[in-house]
Amino acid sequence: VDPSVKEDMKRLEDTFAGISKRYRLINRIGEGTFSTVYKAEDILYDHYQNDWNTEDDPEENNWQIPPPKKRRLGDNVTEDLSSNGKKKKKPRYVALKKIYVTSSPLRIQNELELLHDLRGSTSVCPLITAFRHQDQVVAVLPYFPHTDFRIQYRTFMVRDMRHYFQSLFTALAFVHKHGILHRDIKPTNFLYNPELRRGVLVDFGLAERQGSDYTGPCLCTNPAQVRQLRLQSSYYTNQSAHQQSGYPKNDPRPARRANRAGTRGFRAPEVLFKCTSQTTKIDMWSAGVILLTLLGRRFPFFNSADDVEALIEMASIFGNRRMKYAAALHGQIFETNIPTIGEKGYGWEKLVIWSSCVEDLTESEQQGIKLLAGLMELNPNKRLSAKEALQHEFFTKPVE
Ligand code: ADP
Ligand code: MG
Repeated sequence: VDPSVKEDMKRLEDTFAGISKRYRLINRIGEGTFSTVYKAEDILYDHYQNDWNTEDDPEENNWQIPPPKKRRLGDNVTEDLSSNGKKKKKPRYVALKKIYVTSSPLRIQNELELLHDLRGSTSVCPLITAFRHQDQVVAVLPYFPHTDFRIQYRTFMVRDMRHYFQSLFTALAFVHKHGILHRDIKPTNFLYNPELRRGVLVDFGLAERQGSDYTGPCLCTNPAQVRQLRLQSSYYTNQSAHQQSGYPKNDPRPARRANRAGTRGFRAPEVLFKCTSQTTKIDMWSAGVILLTLLGRRFPFFNSADDVEALIEMASIFGNRRMKYAAALHGQIFETNIPTIGEKGYGWEKLVIWSSCVEDLTESEQQGIKLLAGLMELNPNKRLSAKEALQHEFFTKPVE
């Protein structure tokens, strides 16, 4: 273990007095914008219960480091037989997620609450417990062994993609059924284990209940109005000078507020267009970006620094005409004079062929392309839901 990581783990142990009585810190496994994650062994894990004793009520244990549970007669013990025939308990690993103090208490509470709502699914990493010391919070999750996407994406065959997305869509169908948007679907937040052919969703730090930051009806919820606006938007285009920026300067309407949380490169078009009634479909777009990465063998696929650049990247694929339509859906105007953005754009098949430097696509890859088109659909109302995606021929009638 790296000395600086050791020091960091020591600091955690010093902050949370008693933590080392329960958890043996092993290594640092993740460092993000909002947290640091450590792998640890739960040395007091109750082997007399079959699985993780997730706390039903985080308030009940007062956010303290939980005491070991008492053994109950007749409970099964998880045991391994070691080489000398002696019975040995299997170590239980946890992920300790230390949430940065810069995160707002509301945000932390939101993440823990949503995880609590989503307990009971095998595709969402459950919250075992959480504890707090002053302004610091540590969430305890079962450790899920997984492979690093940056290494595995190159070797993925279509068969592997099928398993990956079957698992991801199952997880998303569950989360969306609960009316929750994850908002940050990307490879590092879906821990995938190729041997188990299963993954778990983590990181509900940006997740929210659908409709919770609704700031008034968006035009996309009323198709009749959208048609009107399309006329209006072409009127604008003819009248005003072309501008470099994706956003028109002389728009008389008040500036729009909309949730933009997420990771660049994975944001859905309606997020970029500041849709005021975003739905669970934003997660399906992000899942589509992962599929595009795998089919196109390029990671990250999109590499924009900001939202305007992201729109330009999107426009070079979809073309001006479809971008204008997508913008109008949310009452926005899309205008550009960038010469590389054509009127018509490109098809997914061509794009994947260029990106992956192959001559042709196999039949199974073509099936993947069809699914991709359903996911990376600019209009969220036409985009596949997780449930619909699971019914796609890519899964139900796979060609090899
Ligand atoms: P952040 O908000 O900092 O992105 P995450 O919850 O996404 O925090 O965790 C960051 C990283 O830590 C993940 O990408 C993953 O590599 C690792 N990690 C998180 N939870 C687990 C877990 N339950 N099991 C194994 N690794 C995990
Ligand atoms: Mg994360």
